[in-house]
Amino acid sequence: MFYKSTRDSSISVDSATAISQGISAEGGLFLPSEIPSITLDEIKAMADMSYADRAFNVFKKYLTDFTDAEIHYCTDNAYTTKNFDTENIAEIAHLFDGTYMLELWHGPTCAFKDMALQILPYFLTTSIKKLNVDKKVVILVATSGDTGKAALEGFKDVEGTQIMVFYPEDGVSPMQKRQMTTQEGGNVGVCAIKGNFDDCQNGVKAIFTDSEVKEKLSSGGYMFSSANSINWGRLVPQIVYYVSSYATLVADGQIELGEKINIVVPTGNFGNILAGYYAKKMGVPIGKLICASNVNKVLTDFIDTGIYDKNREFYATCSPSMDILISSNLERLLYLVTGEDDSLIRDWFSQLSTNGRYEVNDTVKQVMKEEFFGGFCNDVDTKKTIKDIYDKYGYTCDTHTAVAVKVYQDYKAQTGDTTKTIIASTASPYKFSASVLEAIDGKVSNIDEYDMVNILNERSNMSIPKSLAELKDKERRFSGSIEKTDMKSFVLENLGL
Ligand SMILES: *Cc1c(COP(=O)(O)O)cnc(C)c1O
Repeated sequence: MFYKSTRDSSISVDSATAISQGISAEGGLFLPSEIPSITLDEIKAMADMSYADRAFNVFKKYLTDFTDAEIHYCTDNAYTTKNFDTENIAEIAHLFDGTYMLELWHGPTCAFKDMALQILPYFLTTSIKKLNVDKKVVILVATSGDTGKAALEGFKDVEGTQIMVFYPEDGVSPMQKRQMTTQEGGNVGVCAIKGNFDDCQNGVKAIFTDSEVKEKLSSGGYMFSSANSINWGRLVPQIVYYVSSYATLVADGQIELGEKINIVVPTGNFGNILAGYYAKKMGVPIGKLICASNVNKVLTDFIDTGIYDKNREFYATCSPSMDILISSNLERLLYLVTGEDDSLIRDWFSQLSTNGRYEVNDTVKQVMKEEFFGGFCNDVDTKKTIKDIYDKYGYTCDTHTAVAVKVYQDYKAQTGDTTKTIIASTASPYKFSASVLEAIDGKVSNIDEYDMVNILNERSNMSIPKSLAELKDKERRFSGSIEKTDMKSFVLENLGL
């Protein structure tokens, strides 16, 4: 197995190179040259395996240049109860008949990003060692909240790495800010930017390609890599939980081996749902992939019309991790469904960067409609859904997950499809306490974040995640903010260059 680039099919590298580089030099995304298959017998055999061993069996098919010992080193260190608050790593809650919540937020930062960012540092350091690269890896992250904290937790004190996270000063929730500014570790940097998420993202991109930075970095013995979902090393761990949850449902007698299930994913960058698509193409019996957006519904429109158009108003919603108008991982899907036509991909994505828009051909339009269903949900309905689920089933879900639940209800009403369904639950409700509490109580509370957490605890009967409870007494290590024009000097200073 080797890895190609979506914008140049002639590129061929091993997985260690794809993971350590993060993105291909010409700007394309790495993806495997073929999709490996998994048989129903293999899935059945996972019944008695730990999550780490299930992950091992999936990674073995993709990271063919890694030895078994190397993969075990990664999985056994990442997927443990030291990092996750449940032995199952991912939990499945039965919401109502035939509908299952796949809780992906039992990791250290209480969002699903931990499923990948707990293991990425092991993949990355193992890759660097395999390639005999004698450089320290610098990870730069622009975040609107969840990715930054998950990356910091994953990379903290990992030897041979240095991580710097940039977030918009006023663009993250108080809990998210507190999570980041109290971050421990000797190799971490956290920096608030006077600007919005786009300013952070553009600043990071500019630093990546700045020739002065590149030169100084290289002579200082450093190299850049990425912890965003453009890195294949973040995508492949997400395939695991779709395979694993299917195995669990079979083992629990909830479904027959071979029975099709649908999957619903609250989507922003199209990473999580793309992992579901890979699981399906590997052979996991998956029917529809239901793509749920908030009012930034660029993907809903794309699935319906085949036109991707980011020229539209941007809305700040109560599901902020999905407030996104450029879904980078869609590029990987389009590469696959065009039959790996790199020239079409180059064409569409250059249209996207010049005009903010492209239209795919009829073949792709048809495939999108066959494989996917797209729907969206506004903030009012998101909160209504949280309340609804809470009242009816005594289950408390976060705002992102509620978007998925609502879109799933719409899908069922529209199609009458009663196939058993897994809904990806992407964050702990405690991470978005203000919105969740407002939904349940029907009013905005003017109290501090920790009091909200305690009230939510009374309402929900769910235990407060240890990592969030501890935040209150943690020392603040990073304060102040900088102009977006000072990001470059911040990075160089931090590295002592
Ligand atoms: C990142 C995130 C999403 C969106 O995931 P994508 O892979 O970008 O589609 C959804 N919910 C939460 C809570 C997130 O943090």
